[in-house]
Order: sequence, then C-alpha cells, then structure tokens
Amino acid sequence: MKLEVVTIGTELLLGLTPDTNAAELGRALAAAGIEVVRHSSVGDRPEAIRAAVAEALDRTGFVITTGGLGPTSDDMTKHAVAELFGKPLQLNEDVLRSLEERFRHLGRPMAATNRTQAEVPEGATVLPNPRGTAPGLWVEERERVVVMLPGVPSEMRGLLAEEVLPRLAARASGMVVRSRTVRTTGIAESALAERVGAIEDDIAPLTLAYLPSVDGVDLRVTAWTIPEAEAERRLAATVAMLRERAAEHCYGEDGTDLAGVVLQQLSSRKTRLAVAESCTGGLLGGRITAIPGSSEVFAGGIVAYDDAVKRGMLDVSAALLKPHGAVSEEVVRAMVAGALRRFGVGAGLAVTGIAGPSGGTPEKPVGTVWLAAAFGQETSALKRIFPGDRAEIRARAAQAALDLLRRLIGETNP
Ligand code: ATP
Ligand code: MG
Repeated sequence: MKLEVVTIGTELLLGLTPDTNAAELGRALAAAGIEVVRHSSVGDRPEAIRAAVAEALDRTGFVITTGGLGPTSDDMTKHAVAELFGKPLQLNEDVLRSLEERFRHLGRPMAATNRTQAEVPEGATVLPNPRGTAPGLWVEERERVVVMLPGVPSEMRGLLAEEVLPRLAARASGMVVRSRTVRTTGIAESALAERVGAIEDDIAPLTLAYLPSVDGVDLRVTAWTIPEAEAERRLAATVAMLRERAAEHCYGEDGTDLAGVVLQQLSSRKTRLAVAESCTGGLLGGRITAIPGSSEVFAGGIVAYDDAVKRGMLDVSAALLKPHGAVSEEVVRAMVAGALRRFGVGAGLAVTGIAGPSGGTPEKPVGTVWLAAAFGQETSALKRIFPGDRAEIRARAAQAALDLLRRLIGETNP
C-alpha cells in the first residue's frame, strides 16, 4: 500500500520547526508495511494546501496531512480538504460535546472560535483526540482518502497509533516495508562501494542505500511491500552478504552504538578502560557513559585540554610537547600511557587534534587529529584529517578513537 504525506505549517517552510511529523510518519508507516512514496510541506495557505493534497491524491489516492486543524485563522486544512471533496462543513454534535466537556474539566471558558473545531466535512469520520482539542478527520470517497491529523507531535503520534494504523492494517494484506542496516566505520563511502560491488541486480527487489554520517557509512537494505516472511528471508541473506564484504569495517547492525561494542569487547575480556581527551573535551567519555552498564568497564577520563594538564595529570613530558607539539604521535602515545598508569587500567584511548575553525597550520591543518588506543601491551596510534566543522571533527574523532580500540582488541585478542 502506498500513500503520500503532506505536512502543513508555514513554520516548517521557514525552518523554525523541524518537520518531525514527516519523519515519524515515515518510520511508523514503513514499520506497518505502508510505503510513503513522497512527502511535501506547504504553508498555512488554503490554495497551497488544496493543491498539494489534490496532486498527492491524483498520484496515490491516499494522503495523510498534519497541522492546521486548530481553531485559529491560520488553521485552514479542514476547509481546503472539504472544498476539494466538494463537501460542506457541518457542526458535529459529538465533537462539540467533547470539546465543551474538555473545557469544563480544565475549568476554562470555551472561546467561540473553538466551536469551529467541532465543524467537520460532511460524511467525515471523526478520530477522537484525547490529548488536544482538534480531532483527526478521515475523509473518504470513491477510492480517495485524506486523513487529517493535528500538528502537535504528541497528538499526531497518539492518533496515528490509536486510530490510523489499526484502520490501515485492516486494509493492508500481509505486505511489509522493512529495513535493516549494516553499520561500518573507518572506510570511505567510495571504498566501501568498491568492496560491496554492483549487487543491486542480485538483491532486487530489495534496494541498497549508502548513508554516510559522522559515525561512518551505514548500508541500509530495504524490502518494499513484499510478504513478511519473504522480506525477512531476503533481508537476512543480504545483510549476511554485506557484512562479509564490509569485513573488519563492520561493527554492527541497526541501532548498534560503537561505544557499546567496545564496552562489550572489554567486558568479556575483563579489562577496564580510561580515556585522555584533548580536542574532544569529554565527548568520548560522554559516548561511553551513555551506554547503560558502562560503569562495569569505564574507570574515568581526563580532559587534558591545556598542555599544563597533559603534563601534570598525564605525565606527558615537556621534552615531547615542545619539539613535536600537542598534536603529534609522540604526545598522543604519551597521553594514553599516562591514562593507563593514572587509572590503573588495561585499556585506554587518547585524542589530541585541531578542531578549528582556527589553529591550523600548513603541516597540521584544521581537522588533524592524532588518536591512540592501548590494550594490554599493545598501543596503536593513527593520524586522521577529518572534514567538516568543529562539531563534526570532534564527533568524528570520538568515533574514530572508539574504532581504533575495537580493531586493536580484535587483532590482539580475537
Ligand atoms: P492545534 O489544535 O494545537 O492548533 P494544529 O493541527 O492546528 O493543532 P498547528 O497549529 O499546525 O497544529 O501546530 C501546532 C504545533 O505543532 C506547533 O508548535 C507546530 O510548530 C507543531 N508542528 C506542526 N507541524 C509539525 C510538524 N510537521 N513537525 C513537527 N512539529 C509540528
Ligand atoms: Mg499551524
């Protein structure tokens, strides 16, 4: 089953409100086996709303809208859709009663404008909205369906789960849209694509998408509207093939967090971890402690931003700092050694780099980061030059540090 989503609100076009409704609808509908083939956004203007809904109806015959159902003059969705279907708006006594009841319960007088919220297009099914004043509306005629949901995300979510998905499930036919993700890091998108090869024809009707982010490149495989058992079988086979081709660059699937993977590796080897951070300023410790149960493995960290702290707290000698500079292999190795010694642990990570926007030099441009990982007797150090702004460089550095340790543990003690 296919449909289109139209999100309504001038604030969405102005970028003042991120369109979380469209994202949520996409996820929830896909999980329910319904394919969102397009989403569009329009401002609070009746002719724009009518045009967007009409075009979407022409393409798929099924549209879900969010927003513009409130009582104020900028809430035009109901009017536009009623006009599109050639239906008058009629006062719905049930809706009016529940509105009055709601206001009585809140001990507030009901404004006259709220009465307009009890008006619905003739023949529409009212979807009760216990979280707000505007009910959802389901208008259906001759194979054309428009479902109008409120803009407030929590109200939209509630109505979707309680009123819309059950009705859609009743229409669907055992088909699902389902995705799985193979997560990789430490390899560029183009290099990964070479390893994976041209598999598009082999995996059809499944599709493959490369999704790069600061965490690495995710490979997302999607089965589109095929029977559930077949989708599961094909997805499992494709994921296995992708994992094999991504080999050591793959660290997990779906929602796996690399910090969780590293903690798991250390936990099963009964080794504790400490970190020494310069340019990431605690980001690495934050990533690690965000994982429930990290206290079993993580001892702590030192944010050694100033060179004086690198000397005083991590015993990095001035004889290294002076000639090589803080962003160097010598210093990052000394930092991780200092963390191991100070915390008395068997595994460590250190990061030192230039996150910018200033501070770069021709030899060490902005984005230059030295990373070190130590595990038992082994230490590996790596220089990377990361693209992006300050926030991206810091995020990439934290992820790359975790990956360095993951690989080191995998090599030394698989
Ligand atoms: P209400 O009954 O509250 O007036 P409504 O259907 O008229 O509901 P809007 O007035 O369009 O909804 O939006 C209400 C709130 O929800 C606003 O804060 C708006 O920014 C937010 N909102 C609207 N659309 C979206 C969207 N697509 N994604 C995220 N937030 C949204
Ligand atoms: Mg609005």
